[in-house]
Amino acid sequence: MAKIVVQVDHCKGCELCVEACPVGCIEIDNEVLNKLGYHPAKYKGTGCTGCGICYYTCPEPDAIIVYKKNEREAA
Ligand code: SF4
Ligand code: SF4
Repeated sequence: MAKIVVQVDHCKGCELCVEACPVGCIEIDNEVLNKLGYHPAKYKGTGCTGCGICYYTCPEPDAIIVYKKNEREAA
């Protein structure tokens, strides 16, 4: 099953991935402040298709990792 992992301390909380995800499976985690002082993005836990749109939308190179099925697709 596809999924994403947000590398929390690389995220700047810009919400571009939240807006871009076609299935709406990313949200901002308002309960967490990362090392940069931002509320980071968070995978809701279900629904990811592995399309990679969030990865290509994110301006931070290391913030999102997409796993298509069980393989790492992008770092
Ligand atoms: S890979 Fe696609 S479906 Fe999965 S979280 Fe990113 S934009 Fe959404
Ligand atoms: S993961 Fe990237 S696109 Fe999403 S909120 Fe963080 S910095 Fe913005």
